[in-house]
Amino acid sequence: MIYFDNAATTFVDNEVLNSFNQAVKNFFANPSSMHQVGYSAALIQKKARQQIANFFKCQEDEVIFTSGATESNNLAIKGYAFRYANRGKHLITCQTEHPSVLNTFKQLQDEFGFQVTYLGVDEYGHVNLDELKDAITDETILVSIMTVNNEVGTIQPVEEIAKLLKNYPKIHFHTDATQAIGKINIDYKDIDMISMSGHKINCFKKSGILIKRKNIDLLPIISGGGQQGNYRSGTEDVPGEIALSKAIRIAFEKQAEHYKQAIKLKERLISKLNEIPNVKINSQNDDSPFIVSIVTNKKGSVVVECLSNKEIYVSTKSACSSKKNEGSNVLRAMNKSEWTVLNSIRISFSYMNTIEEIDIFAKSLKEVLDNIK
Ligand code: PMP
Repeated sequence: MIYFDNAATTFVDNEVLNSFNQAVKNFFANPSSMHQVGYSAALIQKKARQQIANFFKCQEDEVIFTSGATESNNLAIKGYAFRYANRGKHLITCQTEHPSVLNTFKQLQDEFGFQVTYLGVDEYGHVNLDELKDAITDETILVSIMTVNNEVGTIQPVEEIAKLLKNYPKIHFHTDATQAIGKINIDYKDIDMISMSGHKINCFKKSGILIKRKNIDLLPIISGGGQQGNYRSGTEDVPGEIALSKAIRIAFEKQAEHYKQAIKLKERLISKLNEIPNVKINSQNDDSPFIVSIVTNKKGSVVVECLSNKEIYVSTKSACSSKKNEGSNVLRAMNKSEWTVLNSIRISFSYMNTIEEIDIFAKSLKEVLDNIK
């Protein structure tokens, strides 16, 4: 099989699995328990948290373990909006965000009386800093813009946005960095809240993190026994957290190597696809090399199915919305024609993919396009 759907999810790395297997036997105890095995679980948990904090250049208690990026985004956005609603009820995000961000804002707007500005993007998927500045009002308290788009790979200017927002003390900045962690070099130091997901970096599903700076408070979304500074109650999954810290270590330490591999794959893919009539590339050179959106002259969902019959796995768009409605809202926001919206597919790499796989993919895609009536 050729698996080019790594933006949807990744395989679990053997080293991550081994860490989990050992931890699940050795550190099964509840880290809140007041006995020896509880203390050892708490101690190893502290180490995992410290390791993560080192990679994100933040403090240990700024790391909140969650069940994935969906929960991290919900906690960051709702937790912040509810906590600081007395300062203002205007929020800013962007039209091409993941549904876990867009629908969170929609709920705040529809059910809780917040006003939300959804910034548009240019034809390459970028938000414009002047438009962001113009959208800010005295009521604005939060801006949330993703780091890397999950359908096209557009890298948003999050470092510049963070700098700009330092001029507005009442406004904090959240980024959904799910498709950026371990892939793209970003300086997160001026970003107030960062969401990420374990299963996009070769860890398990239902594992993730929200980094939240100390000076910010959040209203918890999950109430209970007060674990994790009361920000996210529930008995902590120490083995899962150890596995995630391992995956984060690998992702950060091998990022440069993995990035180089992705660049090679993307370059080969583009040169091979340029030989096929009726195929165009939606993604740009300066987008993340891990995600390549392309358009053919056949319906995206049909191409995906035909490739799947050849054991080549790609997708039409975000897995979270691909079964719901036709066509990509991200491409629509980029003002692409309905033809492009409906006929696009997404190819997404991991460091495990090879040049040989690209060549087989290109050959198979040509066959598929020739055979679809
Ligand atoms: N944000 C982005 C950009 C994503 O790509 C995804 C996964 N498709 C998510 C959030 C949701 O992550 P999770 O599956 O961990 O909830």
